[in-house]
Parts: sequence; structure tokens; C-alpha cells
Amino acid sequence: MMVKLKNIDKIYPNGFSALKNINLDVSNGDIYGIIGFSGAGKSTLIRIINLLESPTNGEVIVNGKDLSKLNNKELRLQRQKIGMIFQHFNLLSSRNVFGNVSFALEIAKWGKDKIKTRVEELLELVGLSDKANYYPSQLSGGQKQRVAIARALANQPHLLLCDEATSALDTKTTKSILHLIKDIQKKLNLSVILITHQIDVVKEVCNKMCVISNGEIVESGNVEDVFLNPQQEVTKELISFMPPTRDDNIVDYLKDKSNVYKIIFTGPNAYNPLVSQMVKKFNVDVNILSGSIDEIIDKEVGHLVIKILGDPFIIQDCLNWLIAQGVTIQTIILKDK
Ligand code: ADP
Repeated sequence: MMVKLKNIDKIYPNGFSALKNINLDVSNGDIYGIIGFSGAGKSTLIRIINLLESPTNGEVIVNGKDLSKLNNKELRLQRQKIGMIFQHFNLLSSRNVFGNVSFALEIAKWGKDKIKTRVEELLELVGLSDKANYYPSQLSGGQKQRVAIARALANQPHLLLCDEATSALDTKTTKSILHLIKDIQKKLNLSVILITHQIDVVKEVCNKMCVISNGEIVESGNVEDVFLNPQQEVTKELISFMPPTRDDNIVDYLKDKSNVYKIIFTGPNAYNPLVSQMVKKFNVDVNILSGSIDEIIDKEVGHLVIKILGDPFIIQDCLNWLIAQGVTIQTIILKDK
């Protein structure tokens, strides 16, 4: 067993009970997904696994060791065997890619020559050998997360913790990062625990999962079992957010395929509530057919499939207006399909 949590409670100093009697078993080689809505207790839980947060009650056993029984030095050594990556990458902006990865080894007091060899090996593993001299500001989100993964793996951990690691990435980059995690898991025989609010992430990479709600694990099991036969309302609700694999699928179900448009927002205007502004301005109705919230608020790209209801001339005005807003509407397809 790689991780065993026994009867974990977490009560924050203000009296809030964030975790209640959590029991969790993660076997060697699992990619274990912990999913729940915002505020469910996911971050608290993952931070307890490396004792960044200490539990009020219960045992945290990682690779056979009860972490709460270790002294500071022992805990530091154990933590080197637990890699962690974050939603916002947490890279050092003043260091280049090489320097960010070597940092983990400098702290672990590796010699200079050994560091160089190891960093090169890691950059190769994550596909960034040609970017060693780049600074974080010169990298895309996906590349930054690759650097963070290389750093997390530097000390040859047994366990990789992923804290919403793909939540700041667009769909395509998310896929490539998840692919990398899966690949690395196999190559290095790692165990991985990831927390996410995105059900498709769990479906894409995990073999085991649990659902956390109000600080309690309400359902757990093999991913396919939970997906095929969800027991709890919250699980059903989470699964209902599963985006379709292809937008066309949704459109296929529509009887009336007219005035269905796929709009792709890129650039700074992706944040603006253009669709709701359009609805008010032109007094049309809009059915949103696909495009998850994550994709809509995503930094790099948002996409929406919408059906606009209204007078054809006004619909044309709507489309012209959207295009005039300076967002890149790459294309509008599916019309009268
Ligand atoms: P999630 O990661 O699922 O969004 P968190 O673990 O961040 O959830 O938070 C779970 C609950 O614990 C939330 O209701 C949050 O407000 C509360 N919480 C988190 N940190 C603290 C803290 N330091 N003190 C008090 N309450 C906290």
C-alpha cells in the first residue's frame, strides 16, 4: 500500500470541520482521483498526505511510514519522496527551466555534476530538452507544468500528488499533461494521487477514484464501476458535467440544427461575458449546448456551442457584433448541418 489514511479528521483552528473520518487506501501504481465540488475538502485532504497540513486525528501512512510520528529531519527526507504539482505551477520566475528543476536537487544537497546529468534526464523525460534556458515567462502553461513535473520527479519520489494540476490549462494541453502523467506513472512505477473538480480528468487517467462531499468520502471504487453505477446524488451530478467527446454528438441529437454555432474565444476577451451581453443587446435567446464552465473561463481558450433563437437578421447582427468584439471567433460551423 502506498498511502493509507486512517480515520482522518481535520478541524481548522476556527472550529470548522473540513474532513470527517476519512479512510483512504492507495495501492502502488494507482492513479487515484479524488473528485468533489469546490469547498468539499480536496485541498485539505491532499495537503494532509504530505503533512503540509496536519490532521486533528488519524494516521497518515505513506510507503509504510506513519508521517505524524517522524521528527522534522525524517519528515523532510520522506517529503523528498513525495512529489507535488500545483494548479499554478509555482515555478521560480527568476530561474530558468534548468534552474527550477535543479533547485529541488540543490535542496537535497546533490553535487553539481550529478545535478546536471539528472536535470538533463528529467527535461528529456518531460519533452523540454530544448527549453533548458527559457524562463517561466517565456513558456506556455503546458510547458510550465512540464517543468513542475520534472522538478517534482527530481528526487525519484514514489508518490506524485497533483493539486488541480490541469485546471488552469485548456482542453488540449490538459490532455497532453494527463498523457504525460500516465506515461511517467508507467515508466517510473509511480503512484499518483490527483485532486480535481473536473470529472473528465478522472475518466481520462485514473484507475481508482473517490468522491468527496462536505469533508466526507461518500463513494469510492474502480473508475469504471463508479461511472457505470454511481450511487450518490453528488456523484451523479459530477458525472453529468462530463463534456461530450465531440461537440457534433450533441448537435446530432437536435431536431432543428439551424442557427447552431461553435464559437471559439481566444485572447484577453475570453473573460468577458460576451454571450450574455449579446443576449441583452439584441434581445435574443441563446441555448448553450456545450462548453464546460472550465473551458469558458479558461485562460487560453474558451469554446461554446450555442443555438441562437430569434429573427434571422438579428442573428446575423449578433454574429457580426461578436466578431467585432475583438475576440477571435475562429469559425462558425454546424449551421444547417
Ligand atoms: P476544496 O479543495 O475541495 O475546494 P478545501 O479543502 O480548500 O476544499 O476547503 C474545504 C473547506 O474547509 C472549505 O469550506 C473551506 O472554507 C474550509 N477551509 C479551508 N482552509 C481553512 C482554514 N485555514 N480555516 C478554516 N476553514 C478552512
